[in-house]
Amino acid sequence: MRVAVVGGGWAGIAAAVELTAAGRAVTLFEAGRRLGGRARAVDLAGRTLDNGQHLFLGAYRDTLALMRRVGADPDALFVRRPLRVIDNAGFDLALPRLPAPLHLAWGLLAARRVPWREKLATAAWMRGLQAAGFRLPADPTVAAWLDGAGQTGALRRHLWEPLCLAALNTPAERASAQVFANVLRDSLGGPRRADTDLLLPRRDLGQLLPQPAAAWLAARGCELRLGHRVRTLAATADGVAIDGEVFAGAIVAVAPQHLPGLLPGEAADFTYEPIATVYLQYDPPAPLPFPLYGLSGGHGQWVIDRGDGLLAAVLSGHGAWEELADAELVSRLHGELGQIRLPVWHRVIREKRATFSCRPGLRRPGPATAHPRVFLAGDHAWAEYPATLEGAVRSGLAAARAGLDRSAFGKP
Ligand SMILES: Cc1cc2nc3c(=O)[nH]c(=O)nc-3n(C[C@H](O)[C@H](O)[C@H](O)COP(=O)(O)OP(=O)(O)OC[C@H]3O[C@@H](n4cnc5c(N)ncnc54)[C@H](O)[C@@H]3O)c2cc1C
Repeated sequence: MRVAVVGGGWAGIAAAVELTAAGRAVTLFEAGRRLGGRARAVDLAGRTLDNGQHLFLGAYRDTLALMRRVGADPDALFVRRPLRVIDNAGFDLALPRLPAPLHLAWGLLAARRVPWREKLATAAWMRGLQAAGFRLPADPTVAAWLDGAGQTGALRRHLWEPLCLAALNTPAERASAQVFANVLRDSLGGPRRADTDLLLPRRDLGQLLPQPAAAWLAARGCELRLGHRVRTLAATADGVAIDGEVFAGAIVAVAPQHLPGLLPGEAADFTYEPIATVYLQYDPPAPLPFPLYGLSGGHGQWVIDRGDGLLAAVLSGHGAWEELADAELVSRLHGELGQIRLPVWHRVIREKRATFSCRPGLRRPGPATAHPRVFLAGDHAWAEYPATLEGAVRSGLAAARAGLDRSAFGKP
């Protein structure tokens, strides 16, 4: 009997690849016309762009390994740059090519527009966090945590709060301090300098994983049922019936808002945050000081240089920007970028439920469900991380391994 994977986002892809490599015959159901879910390529007026700008870090080890496994070469598909956080208010923190943790110490001490006293206090705070393994005694909001640590100056405004919003898609006032600390542990606080590197995609999201994975899976007998939205999932004593068809077992890798229809008992208490990506095409190109540039004091938070004059501005989390019409948002972002010439083309893509809101104490599921042959995957099911591609990929691998370990998917 075959094994079903429901949902062809990065979690479902990871699960399908792991099961196929373990010799299982897999059927992958995806409601959309192509794989990728919330990280996919979209066709817009003759261009192929991303449904939303995504950033990757060197710490995305399982994502990069999965890409390699299906024949996609991260060295060719990303531009790798040492992390630099620079914004339009003059803040500039660049990590040098020194071994960890020297790179962080140097970067902090050399940061522009930060008083010396604050730099030294922050370096001591980071050392304390490292010594404690980034485990916090409680899980307050990031804002309360930073208040308690005396992080109330320039580094908070220009580094911690923007990084929190970028990583958790939840503003510091609502975000989980422990999950943010986990992100810091595996990036800035990690043992490898390369983990902090920024990986800027040279190609659209489809080419990074969904397309090569689809080809890899199809070549190994995985059945891809695109455009098939699963309506019913019923676990029986010796299998799982999906829209009436019986499988040995199943991995359900849908976003949490789609869970209630399939597995009512597993739906947890998630709320959601939006993301908008505003694409602005300039001609001639409008160069940025660094391909990732922070915007402070306006609606946008970051702008990314996609090459050939295309800029992608990102607006994360609930905010006043949601009330603005697309044309107004474009005009405001253009102003915040300080460009003289008007963009020759623009497009706004809004993802209303881009990610779950990563709040303190949020209950997150693991791979196991009430039924021994049904497993959960998805960014929400990797409790260590906020909604990220790396969390999604790790959850997909974990669900596949859990099912294989418990012999829930039959024999190869
Ligand atoms: C605009 C935007 C920007 C982001 N930026 C970043 C970033 O910079 N870095 C980062 O790491 N992460 C980022 N994220 C988060 C990241 O995209 C997600 O965490 C990740 O894609 C989630 O993958 P997933 O497989 O868990 O879920 P999804 O991608 O939601 O996949 C679930 C899939 O299930 C399918 N599905 C649902 N119901 C059914 C059904 N009944 N039958 C069949 N199929 C079904 C859906 O169509 C979907 O394809 C961003 C997200 C957005 C939207």
